[in-house]
Amino acid sequence: MFVGHYAASFALKSIEKRASLGLLFIAVQFVDILFFSLTLGGIEKFKVIENYTESTHFQLIFMPYTHSLLSTFIWGGVIFISAYYLYFKRIPNSKNISIVMATAVISHWFFDLIMHTPDLPLASDDSVKMGLSLWNNAYLSYLLEAVFLLASLYLYMKSTSGKTTFAKIGAPLFVIFLLAVNILNIFGPLSPDDNELSVALSALAAYGLFAVMAFYLDKKRT
Ligand SMILES: [Zn+2]
Repeated sequence: MFVGHYAASFALKSIEKRASLGLLFIAVQFVDILFFSLTLGGIEKFKVIENYTESTHFQLIFMPYTHSLLSTFIWGGVIFISAYYLYFKRIPNSKNISIVMATAVISHWFFDLIMHTPDLPLASDDSVKMGLSLWNNAYLSYLLEAVFLLASLYLYMKSTSGKTTFAKIGAPLFVIFLLAVNILNIFGPLSPDDNELSVALSALAAYGLFAVMAFYLDKKRT
């Protein structure tokens, strides 16, 4: 899953309004950010294969440190503790913000579970791998991510408000932008220049860009 992960960000923000939407955008992709970074050092692995599934041009080969169920909960714990220490001096009752941030990290595995072919390990030994393979149907994959995003946008818009025109239409326009990006992501062809390095770097750049956009748009709403 790609942009659909951000549904968890919008939904969790609507539950805990003091959490930063920008940081929630980082949190939901935290294990992917780690994964693509680790692939640069050859520690975790994926391979570019044209039309490996109807929705992707890559095979995820080895990712026990970022995408196992066990490691997901460990990273969730790390983010819970980090967020707790980041916020607890400045904001009273900040534990809820930390819980929401950790939930965002952990949500990633369960969203991935729906889409991935069986490549998600349960533990670090990589022996049992899971995945419900929705990626094998491109239209359903796109539809599910779109429904998740639109439903969460509704929750976010209902629970926050904006005074300026930009604050009112910014978030819906941003979601439309994400849905457009996902058309290219799911239905787009593999470019002849694409390789593991370019895919990893463009994914990392996209995660950073989307988080900055979310941070900026969210600042305009209260
Ligand atoms: Zn992932």
